[in-house]
Amino acid sequence: MAQHEHVRVAVIGSGFGGLGAAVRLRREGITDFLVLERAGAVGGTWRDNSYPGCACDVPSHLYSFSFAPNPDWPRTFSGQQHIRAYLEHVADTFGLRPHIRLNHEVTVMRWDNDELHWVIETENGATITADAVVSATGPLSDPKLPDIPGLADFPGKVFHSARWDHDYDLSGKRVAVIGTGASAIQIVPEIQPRAGRLTLFQRTPPWVMPRMDRAISGAEKWLHRALPFTATARRGLLWGIRELQVGAFTKHPNQLGLVESIAKSNMARAIKDPALRAKLTPSYRIGCKRILLSNAYYPALARPNVDVVDSGLSEVRGSTLVGSDGTETEADVIILGTGFHVTDMPIASRVVGADGITLAESWKDEMQALRGATAAGFPNWMTIIGPNTGLGNSSMILMIESQLNYMADYLRQLDVLGGRAALDARPSAVGAWNRRVQDRMKRTVWNTGGCTSWYLDANGRNTTVWPGTTAEFRRATRAVDLAEYEIVRPPVTRSAPQAVTEEAAR
Ligand SMILES: Cc1cc2nc3c(=O)[nH]c(=O)nc-3n(C[C@H](O)[C@H](O)[C@H](O)COP(=O)(O)OP(=O)(O)OC[C@H]3O[C@@H](n4cnc5c(N)ncnc54)[C@H](O)[C@@H]3O)c2cc1C
Repeated sequence: MAQHEHVRVAVIGSGFGGLGAAVRLRREGITDFLVLERAGAVGGTWRDNSYPGCACDVPSHLYSFSFAPNPDWPRTFSGQQHIRAYLEHVADTFGLRPHIRLNHEVTVMRWDNDELHWVIETENGATITADAVVSATGPLSDPKLPDIPGLADFPGKVFHSARWDHDYDLSGKRVAVIGTGASAIQIVPEIQPRAGRLTLFQRTPPWVMPRMDRAISGAEKWLHRALPFTATARRGLLWGIRELQVGAFTKHPNQLGLVESIAKSNMARAIKDPALRAKLTPSYRIGCKRILLSNAYYPALARPNVDVVDSGLSEVRGSTLVGSDGTETEADVIILGTGFHVTDMPIASRVVGADGITLAESWKDEMQALRGATAAGFPNWMTIIGPNTGLGNSSMILMIESQLNYMADYLRQLDVLGGRAALDARPSAVGAWNRRVQDRMKRTVWNTGGCTSWYLDANGRNTTVWPGTTAEFRRATRAVDLAEYEIVRPPVTRSAPQAVTEEAAR
């Protein structure tokens, strides 16, 4: 057999998830690992999304690692460039660079039942084997392009919000923005002053709340640097407020009515035209789709060079964009704010498990993972931000750090087992976990709020959001429960893997 580079852990991706995993591995004393990243730089989401106005919508002091506080955040909601710089800084400060292989897109990873390791192939021809894989390829990483008849033949410029073309000058152009999600509402106010005419194609209006964004003062920065516990306290407060909101999303959606009235006044302040206000008023419970934050979106839509087509885009005929209501709009450029492959993670079709089937095949009815991390039939493989780990109202970094606790304990358990061993999630444990999650999901605003959203898969199941507090998830991922796993040892004969009980393994 050909000799390949072998590592104990291969981390895929270098966003918050992958870099966080790398830091945690080093802190656990594990240095035998690689981070494989398809792009030419680290940063994930915050490298790829460079569109005008791109910023986080969870305050920076919470949307950052607890182990790498940044007293110098410039704003309460910092922009993409600062978040990207922060991730570069994390890679430097924690000595991650020697572990990172850029321009290494993983094309396939196969579990080897005989050797009990993963065989990972990358697009540039490398083959690496690893005892364990931590897949941190991101929930919002692969742009989703809409299937609109005629789009491919549009004679003008077309690009996705996550692949912004900075060389294309929008000045004076007839710009069409498709979609009204988190990216689109940040883009529209930024480009509206430059565009000759801007047409926004909306299928469903979002609920938009005021954005409490402001510059962080020099005094605050000084205080956080001189007395770090003040930054910790600030983070704790931001976290606590969001934890208190969770009950309204998960158990008592009716309580969200008050929040709707704040969002309605946010709109009424800027939109005076009753016809436009009617177009922009959602007909579903706030929170059902992600709540968006902006002080500039509605004022931009009220400007004379902006139109809103509220029936969505149905067809492109040459340079004419046809709305579902038959309206026709001429455009020079189409900006797709159409989101990402979320419930159909592209990486899943590149992971081949112990039975020779891909994760995508295993998830064909529904994606599900034990504690959001591991899947039956895929030993020693775990994902960061896996199924049902997303949040509607708080920082994903909290969930990532919980998953890193789980990862660290998983690797410790493998150490304790000794010899060559793998852990494979029991189907019964995955099923039980998923039933509990889906049972709790029934009462949530995401399922009862009267909308369709990217949280739901093709079958209408919510396989993305965590229906509880981040504290509950932290408890659920503190340690690996070995009863939820089969311990796999190398086969006696080299024909099939052997699952043995823990007792037998000893
Ligand atoms: C515009 C935008 C704003 C957001 N704002 C917030 C916010 O305010 N608060 C919040 O909590 N969340 C926010 N999110 C969600 C965000 O995705 C997560 O918070 C977090 O950044 C995800 O980190 P990640 O490392 O899991 O994924 P990513 O940051 O997406 O990183 C995944 C990495 O994996 C790499 N990769 C993918 N496939 C392969 C492959 N086959 N081989 C090798 N490498 C691969 C990608 O190139 C990428 O670098 C936002 C998302 C977007 C798109």
